[in-house]
Amino acid sequence: MQVIILGSGSPIPDPERAGPSTLVRTSIGDLLFDCGRGVLMRAAAAGSGAGAFQALLLTHLHSDHITDLNDVFTMRWVMSFSPNPLPVFGPSGTARLLHATEAMLEPDIGYRLTHHDDLKWRPSAVVTEVGSGVMLDQGTVRVTAAPTDHAPVRPTVGYRVDDEGRSVVIAGDTVPCAGLDRLCADADVLVHTVVRRDLIEQFGLPRLTDVLDYHSSVPDAARTAERNGVRKLILTHLVPAPTPGTEQEWLDQAAANFNGEVVLASDLLAVEV
Ligand SMILES: [Zn+2]
Ligand SMILES: [Zn+2]
Repeated sequence: MQVIILGSGSPIPDPERAGPSTLVRTSIGDLLFDCGRGVLMRAAAAGSGAGAFQALLLTHLHSDHITDLNDVFTMRWVMSFSPNPLPVFGPSGTARLLHATEAMLEPDIGYRLTHHDDLKWRPSAVVTEVGSGVMLDQGTVRVTAAPTDHAPVRPTVGYRVDDEGRSVVIAGDTVPCAGLDRLCADADVLVHTVVRRDLIEQFGLPRLTDVLDYHSSVPDAARTAERNGVRKLILTHLVPAPTPGTEQEWLDQAAANFNGEVVLASDLLAVEV
């Protein structure tokens, strides 16, 4: 398997970091986890694209994780030459989100159906709402979901991909919790969203301080990895985005709590699993 961080950013726009999104290349093809700002630009750079995703898997419905759902949904439709429904997995509310997205795009859908004679079908998705357990079992690939804790955002899920004896966990946004621990048990790679508690507390901005109670700090994520025997930890969704020269601080905060390898994500970081 291969993990490619398509977007290592957060809700805060950044010139170097697209919104939260991770591509996992498996033996059955590309699985896309979340679809934040700029996802298809980064997917193009990684040699993938909307038509090629085997599935889109959403961790939760916070806007930064779904900003470009409309782009994925539309480009899959327009760039496929036969009907190619998008398989979408996500927590409860995902079906409603897809319906609302389709409704929002209704004028565009009409324009394109009218303009392209060879386009005779509408865009579509096949939505499966997930909570816990194995939700995709195809070839050598098994994807398992478990509830995470991003309260008051509910429900939220994390995912684990197993393929040919290797494993990757996509935590999404969460504080340490039992569901994530289950997914992480003995995993090769954990992709975890993190915030810097120490820096955010220094800023003292209430709008920013609010995010501390429902995200993992760098030490939190590192302790989750350590507690569950994870081998490699990828820190992503970096809040605030590291200023040049401060990358080592993030790594040090993780290394103080985790004996495995730590990687600080940048866009298009590729890690072999
Ligand atoms: Zn969130
Ligand atoms: Zn987020």
